[in-house]
Amino acid sequence: MTWLFLLLPVAVAYGWFMRGYSLKQKDHSSQQALSIKYSTGLNYLFSNQQDKAIDYLLEALKLEDDSVEAHFAMANLFRRRGELDRALKVHEHLVQQKHLPNNAQQQAIFELGKDFLSAGLYDRAENMFEQLLKSKEYGLKSLAFLMQIFQSTKDWERGVALKKSIVKTKDKKLMHNLANFYCELATVALAKDEFIEVLELLENALVQDPNSCRANWLMAQIYENHQQYEEACQCYQDIYVQDKEFFPDVIDKMHHCYKELGEEEAFFKFIRKVYEETGSSSALISYLNFIEETNNLSKAKEFMLLALKRRPTIRGFKHFVKMQMIESEQESTTENLDVIKQLISEYLKLKHRYSCRTCGFNSSTHYWSCPSCHDWEQLKPVRGLEGE
Ligand SMILES: [Zn+2]
Repeated sequence: MTWLFLLLPVAVAYGWFMRGYSLKQKDHSSQQALSIKYSTGLNYLFSNQQDKAIDYLLEALKLEDDSVEAHFAMANLFRRRGELDRALKVHEHLVQQKHLPNNAQQQAIFELGKDFLSAGLYDRAENMFEQLLKSKEYGLKSLAFLMQIFQSTKDWERGVALKKSIVKTKDKKLMHNLANFYCELATVALAKDEFIEVLELLENALVQDPNSCRANWLMAQIYENHQQYEEACQCYQDIYVQDKEFFPDVIDKMHHCYKELGEEEAFFKFIRKVYEETGSSSALISYLNFIEETNNLSKAKEFMLLALKRRPTIRGFKHFVKMQMIESEQESTTENLDVIKQLISEYLKLKHRYSCRTCGFNSSTHYWSCPSCHDWEQLKPVRGLEGE
């Protein structure tokens, strides 16, 4: 990045040249005063005394606004070099220049907001972005930064308060973020078992993002807590429609609800369809339990062998070893198989269950917001030989 700094004098010199050009027709003495400030500023820049250089160049800006672009370039270079205090100083100065055209004023406020955000000064960053909510050029970007701040500070209520502005933008990503803010509030209400409030919040979430499987996942929890298993089953079926990759994580919960309704057969019919459509190893293992119960072990083994040939997975193989153990009559064979099963279990423990579809972050625990890229609902079960 150091090389970027080499461009700084060029950018400023360009601004100075252009300004000088436009001043040709103007008063000679003011031009001279300005030239002195600029050349002194540039001298300081070349001799690596940035703070003194900034003071002189900012002074010059007060007199003439032709060099605004050069000042933005200078501040951006400071920020990229990690010299936030210097970037802040230039942007703050630009914001104070009331004579600047509207667009340059908004740009200055926006850049200053980004400086405050980088410095972790959230209150001040918020203040800047809030001023730009109605701006054509910076409205959407400012909303995105505000949502980012409220996510960091877990200020879900304030994020939800931006609903009107977000809906107006029709921006899919922002609406998806907003839906997750509703889900966060619903999680709090769910812990207090506030049935009506949870449902209201989640309905709001689904209006913002009909694809939010998290909203349906939470809705299933509250229905389950109130023994409304039919509704819970519907939520799980909706999740399958919304996100087939996330679905393996709800299979056990869905099975439980169908069991409570006394409709296990309907469940296994559904899960067989899931297996055939997605090849998921969780769906396969769940379906095998059904064959074991309704037919016998050898029928289940037959099904498993075919499935493993079609699509081999370590989890499927582990289940196959387990079935072999049940069938084996010799104690020594059972012991050997047990060693293999333990080994596979240890191996699978080393593997992460989830990966973020946005940034590739791996984790054994599920998070609704990726700890690395902070995207919502992107951590899903890993696919392939070592996963689903
Ligand atoms: Zn991520």
